[in-house]
Amino acid sequence: MSTPVLSVPTKVDRATQAETSRLTPRGPGRHTTQETLQRVARETVAPAKLVIASHREPYQHVRRDGSIRVIRSAGGLASALDSIAQATGATWVALGSGNADRETADATGRVAMPPDKPRYTLQRLWIDSDEVLDAYRRFANGCLWPLCHVVYVRPQFDRDQWEAYREVNRRFAEQILRAVGDEPAIVLLQDYQLALAARMLRDAKPDLSLVLFWHIPWPNAEVFRILPWRRELLDGLLATDLIGFHINYHGFNFMETVARELEVHVDRERSALKRRGHRTYVRSYPIAPDALEIARTADMPTAAQAATSLRRELGIGDARVILGVDRLDYTKGIPERLDAFERVLEQQLPGWDNTVMVQIGVPSRVDLPDYQALQSTVSDRVDQINARFGSPGSPVIHLIIDNLGFDELIPYYVLGDVMAVTSLHDGMNLVAKEYVAARLNDDGVLVLSPYAGASRELEHAIQANPYDIDALAQALSRALTLDRDAQRVRMRALREVVSAHNIYDWGRAMFRDIRRLHLTPEVRTAREAV
Ligand code: UDP
Repeated sequence: MSTPVLSVPTKVDRATQAETSRLTPRGPGRHTTQETLQRVARETVAPAKLVIASHREPYQHVRRDGSIRVIRSAGGLASALDSIAQATGATWVALGSGNADRETADATGRVAMPPDKPRYTLQRLWIDSDEVLDAYRRFANGCLWPLCHVVYVRPQFDRDQWEAYREVNRRFAEQILRAVGDEPAIVLLQDYQLALAARMLRDAKPDLSLVLFWHIPWPNAEVFRILPWRRELLDGLLATDLIGFHINYHGFNFMETVARELEVHVDRERSALKRRGHRTYVRSYPIAPDALEIARTADMPTAAQAATSLRRELGIGDARVILGVDRLDYTKGIPERLDAFERVLEQQLPGWDNTVMVQIGVPSRVDLPDYQALQSTVSDRVDQINARFGSPGSPVIHLIIDNLGFDELIPYYVLGDVMAVTSLHDGMNLVAKEYVAARLNDDGVLVLSPYAGASRELEHAIQANPYDIDALAQALSRALTLDRDAQRVRMRALREVVSAHNIYDWGRAMFRDIRRLHLTPEVRTAREAV
């Protein structure tokens, strides 16, 4: 499979060059700027229309204390898609979720975005039945999520939920078709919540250019074949022209799964699947955070001051810090990480002394029983380990259950001497890359699970199997005792990788493939006319 070449030199504003090279080891000229992505998107899309569809909306209207506020969806992905939408005057279809979303949109759910400088249309979709909405979410998060992550949490197979999932996909497709009208268009679908929408769109309007990015892993064919509705789901995905994954491995798994389940021609030469005359290209586009932005924030005196204040507030003095930052999700291997730290302490492995763990846990999917159970398991294990190895007022593990803003999170990355990313399975894991991007002095050590997509690029991390608690404990111990020179060698290599790509490269590579593979609506239409 061909991986996209992400690091094509681009012009970087001269004024920022010196700063860029100081903050990122790869220096200037490597990154796609927001402007470049916007230009490439505009050139690819024009003269057609672009429609983006995602489960989550980029901006929510929320009424609090009598006034309405706009809340922007956090994270690099949302901001890259927002840039694309702005540059192309797109329509973005997403579920309305803010408590003031209806009153701020027009009668059909449309609202101009961004609020201060409107450039595109956010088309909110309302699913009036709470029951359908709930069942759709449960299918996505209680069936597809565990199925694709292969973490031995049994996926729930419930026909009503599957039907609700199909129904919500149908509603998305209807809304997208309304946004497209009679114009030629490119539709960018996001993630595992929208696996069926492409087929519905293709059937209604065969000339659409359909692209889907699958942000989570794709399991092997043996695992996927237990899904009762696998053929319909795969058929839905094969209606796309291009499907993207973070890493090649997930793309290979997808091709293998399709080959086992459906009558298709697997075109390895092109890395594509052909079925009934329609070709779907399979490509990988590794997502990355905006390393320069993280480095800039970490470089501000306020970040170092905040890290020092954190030490004081947590009462950890000059202790070494093992940091964990995750959504409270069973795919992240948090209990395994706690077990491994406990083993470091009980066996007094090198580095055990004067070491604490700081774990940020972002509450997630709290309505699902498996997530509630995980939160209790994590809190209980932290209490047990603190009771064994801490003393009153000086725990060895600080568990912070909160969803921190970007600026609040960076000081933790500055604080962490060792970052532990122990995912049992993960599409990419941005936290690993963000930590590296924030380590401006080339110190600190990343312990990384080989089952996180990020491990493909971050080869200079200390890799350890989170299912093997002894191996993980050894890896933590090694990381805690790594000397400064060895830290520097590893961290510099990691920082080169992380600073070579940014979130705009991700979007740009996809648009470039849309053009290179002749998937733009004008070329598709011309081809079909022959
Ligand atoms: N994050 C955040 N606040 C927090 C903890 C994490 O904004 O308190 C962000 C973090 O910066 C990262 C994202 O959440 O960008 C998590 O992405 P990742 O790929 O690591 O895992 P996911 O949650 O998508 O499975």
